[in-house]
Amino acid sequence: MKGVLLPGNRQVVVTTFPDPAPANGEVVVRVKASAICRSDLSLYYGQAVVQRDRAGNFISGHEPAGVVEEVGPSVTSVMRGDRVAIYLAIGCGHCRYCRHGDYHLCPDWECLGFTRNGGNAELLVVPERNCLRLPDGMSFVAGAVSTDAFGTLYSACCKLGVAGDKTVAIFGLGPMGSAGVLAAKARGARVLAIDPLSERRDFALELGADRAIDPQADSGVATLMAETNGEGVDFAVDCSGNNKAQNAALDATKRFGKVAFIGESRETTINPSDQLIRKQLTLIGSWYFNISEWDDIARVITTQNIPLEKLVTNTFSLDEAATAFQMFDERKTEKAVFVF
Ligand SMILES: [Zn+2]
Ligand SMILES: [Zn+2]
Repeated sequence: MKGVLLPGNRQVVVTTFPDPAPANGEVVVRVKASAICRSDLSLYYGQAVVQRDRAGNFISGHEPAGVVEEVGPSVTSVMRGDRVAIYLAIGCGHCRYCRHGDYHLCPDWECLGFTRNGGNAELLVVPERNCLRLPDGMSFVAGAVSTDAFGTLYSACCKLGVAGDKTVAIFGLGPMGSAGVLAAKARGARVLAIDPLSERRDFALELGADRAIDPQADSGVATLMAETNGEGVDFAVDCSGNNKAQNAALDATKRFGKVAFIGESRETTINPSDQLIRKQLTLIGSWYFNISEWDDIARVITTQNIPLEKLVTNTFSLDEAATAFQMFDERKTEKAVFVF
């Protein structure tokens, strides 16, 4: 079978591998769609965000969906022919985090596409418990995008308490922030979307944002205050990882409000006295989702006809992987997906 390696230094290697066979409790999935993510660029550059000794030597891709092709011994929960998306984290199955469904928090976790072979390949082997059933009517592309992009943002909205009587500000309208617009609207909230790029703001409006705000002047804080009678928004989500946007999220959120940081960054400066303590504000980090949330994520996507395919600006074949990663790196695409 064919698969894509990202050994670093902006190299993309499309090569052949032996077809995988399922061990006990595992399934082989024939991949139908596999989405590219900003975190894949850490491999592309050679500084893997999930770092292990052999980073870049595994097939890339942690947002796949496909059809179960073969089941190993003792597999009972999925069958050949089932349509599934794949949960990216493989946990030990025994620690307190795994027992709660937070495989991505397991101390011994493995990550698809980083520390074991991932979804940018024709075939993929995973434990049966990592299969997330796709409801009828959800496409493979939607399935791929529903894990890391939509699932992460939907989970963050749930943790914050986003609901119909709340106003949410979303900072950074790349694929994650755009998925956040869809997730917050799905929960009924009023959504104020902030990004310096006008085409991203227009796209957020197309996805249902109530207002799109250019942060150039004051990071958008004055507009957000004016939009909320000077009180501030109930919740803010930063998807940019940018210091200015993170501060604006804290400044524009009202007393007792909640802020979630989603966008990755290694360092930032905030003012805890003014931004957190005396506003009694809650700041959370949120990353991916608990596997038990999948049923709700899939149901909301199908019952509300959430147009996840709209987030995808480009599709590629595996043979076009070099072009795909180059265009994604140069921000000539938003969400991009390998289709088979
Ligand atoms: Zn991702
Ligand atoms: Zn574990």
